[in-house]
Amino acid sequence: MKEIILTLDYELFGNGKGDVFRHIVEPTQHIMKIAKRHNAHLTFFFEVVEYWRMKEEWERGNTMGYTENPIAAMEKQILEAVREGHDVQLHLHPQWVDAQWTEAGWVVDDTSHRLGHYSREGEYSMVELLRKGKETLEQLITPVKPYYHCTALRAGGYNAFPSDEIVKAMREVGMKMDSSLYPGGFAQGEIADYDYRTLPKDKGVWSVENRLEEPTQGKTGIYELPICSLEITRWRKYASWERVKNILSNTQQSKEFYASKMSQTSHTKKSMTDKIKFLFEKECQTWDYCLLPEAVHNLFLAEMEKQTDRRYYTLVGHPKSYMGEQGYSFLLKTLNDNGYRFTTIQEILSNIE
Ligand SMILES: [Zn+2]
Repeated sequence: MKEIILTLDYELFGNGKGDVFRHIVEPTQHIMKIAKRHNAHLTFFFEVVEYWRMKEEWERGNTMGYTENPIAAMEKQILEAVREGHDVQLHLHPQWVDAQWTEAGWVVDDTSHRLGHYSREGEYSMVELLRKGKETLEQLITPVKPYYHCTALRAGGYNAFPSDEIVKAMREVGMKMDSSLYPGGFAQGEIADYDYRTLPKDKGVWSVENRLEEPTQGKTGIYELPICSLEITRWRKYASWERVKNILSNTQQSKEFYASKMSQTSHTKKSMTDKIKFLFEKECQTWDYCLLPEAVHNLFLAEMEKQTDRRYYTLVGHPKSYMGEQGYSFLLKTLNDNGYRFTTIQEILSNIE
């Protein structure tokens, strides 16, 4: 049996920009509606740190420009998702720990995007981040699902490298699964810094002893659920030239796109030629059901069909980069037609354990 895990990173943009309604709540509502139509349940990765910071501001009387309570809207949506059978797990972007609200909006701490390099002590140490995050989700969700436990983690921006401290913290707070890694992934910068080039490309899940990126055998109590990836030319991610133009211009998405691959300062200075060259380079891309067009889903599907021994296929998605129904609906229908089954992390853990 081949099983699909549709994960959804529930969050604003990594640089603190974005609007809770426009970039999270509204697209998520649409994503859930389509999932329901195809009998699929999602696994939400709920970013707790921005939630804490925004909640504090709201409770302090700062509306942050919202006319409606954004915290209540997210909470309501998450509970609705749980009632509909979706799973919710922990997403951590440590750049929000010291985020400050200013006249220009949120300013995040650009020196602490990478959970793998996170070394803060005290109230917001790595262990405390995981513990508090887990508690926040359990407090939020147990009123509608009494036996809910938060057991899985995704590091923001795939930044779970190096992972020794993350694994230690997971064991300490009782978390069992991570889903931050993608085979072939490589980034070297302040915002993203990881090397996943040696990871096996055809494994759906593996056991972890000390490091997520080192697959091992047996029941170790911690598992890595890697994200499916494929080497494609960058521009193929963007179905049309309209979208390519969007990336080349200075939209929020474009900034985030370059920032994850180049250092923060260099991408704004890139010439148009450099940007075009950048788009034509090949790179390992994650299988993203919110962003990718049909043609790229077909490339992924063809590759995954070759992996006959594999059971789990993990995809990523972000409401903020949801491109609409077309590619997404096509993918869910094709997966259903080809005998794939949709599952959640919670279901996988109850099968493994
Ligand atoms: Zn994220």
